[in-house]
Amino acid sequence: MIGILALQGGVEEHRHSMSRCGAATRPVRRCEDLENICGMILPGGESTTITKLIISSGIGPSVRSLIDAGMPVWGTCAGSILLSRGGIWESADVEMQRNAYGPQRESRIRSGTIKGRLEKIPMVFIRAPRVVNISGDVEVLARADGDMVALRQRNVLLTTFHPELTSETYFADIFMGMVYSRTSQAASKG
Ligand code: GLN
Repeated sequence: MIGILALQGGVEEHRHSMSRCGAATRPVRRCEDLENICGMILPGGESTTITKLIISSGIGPSVRSLIDAGMPVWGTCAGSILLSRGGIWESADVEMQRNAYGPQRESRIRSGTIKGRLEKIPMVFIRAPRVVNISGDVEVLARADGDMVALRQRNVLLTTFHPELTSETYFADIFMGMVYSRTSQAASKG
């Protein structure tokens, strides 16, 4: 079961994109919703609002323990801010600058490159943050106009754009791969 943080933002779009991959999802609003979750998606929205709602819902510490224990987590746009330095969960060695590309009207589709692929893909940026610094074992998975726009560090996947808004399933597939490898590791340990 994949949990989708459902306090504010683009929850439905992620639910659809996961159902296209055949994954069952559950909206997460309270601690009880975290039961039997094997991966979690943090959608885009407004990171300040989402952070306030996380604090008032009381789920912050439980989600942090799950991430620290290795549960795969995928943050898109505002969700990626929550996982970066200065964000509520700070689970990746990544620094971001919020709203770095300007106001809403500067939101656009850019064409970007995915690691190991020749053809470019369309990437939807909506008041996106810009990755300004990475350290440690952060792997860059995609770039657009030179900017790092998709990153992975261990069980944390970050995209500053919205893969759930296009038909490209590359990032959903990466995330599901992280979930499957974690669940099969857990099964082999008994
Ligand atoms: N600008 C928003 C923020 O800083 C993120 C926008 C998005 O998630 N599409 O939280």
